[in-house]
Amino acid sequence: MTIDTSGNWWIGTEPEDIKSFLDAYTAEEYPSDEFRLAKCKCGSIAFVLEADDEEGAAIRKCVSCKEEHFICDSEEYWADSNPETCSCFECGSKETNVGVGFSLYDDRRAVRWLYIGVRCNNCGILGCFAGWKVGYEPSLQLMDNV
Ligand SMILES: [Zn+2]
Ligand SMILES: [Zn+2]
Repeated sequence: MTIDTSGNWWIGTEPEDIKSFLDAYTAEEYPSDEFRLAKCKCGSIAFVLEADDEEGAAIRKCVSCKEEHFICDSEEYWADSNPETCSCFECGSKETNVGVGFSLYDDRRAVRWLYIGVRCNNCGILGCFAGWKVGYEPSLQLMDNV
């Protein structure tokens, strides 16, 4: 796992580098305690991602089998959302790896906040495309639904 931090953007060589990026990105906010990399049922980890940061909803579409999956609790909020498609600001690619960072409350009984991290499948640039408050119980099950 190598992250090139020499340029303007962090570039990850592997999808799991999203975790390290989110750890650094969230260090001054609600720190990310848990990380899950999104993987399609078909085994693919490349997606087209749409998200609405305001409404707190995101959907990922597998580029291989076209399966669509609402990330965490997004399905509930999707109808009211105004989503944007994630595309790399450097190379323009819409294919991305997706990983979710979860900030838990101190007693680890519930999720406080989640972050949708991305890594461009073409050039490796890392970023955080959306994030929103969870703050209800039970919510630990969201970690099984990235
Ligand atoms: Zn798939
Ligand atoms: Zn790119």
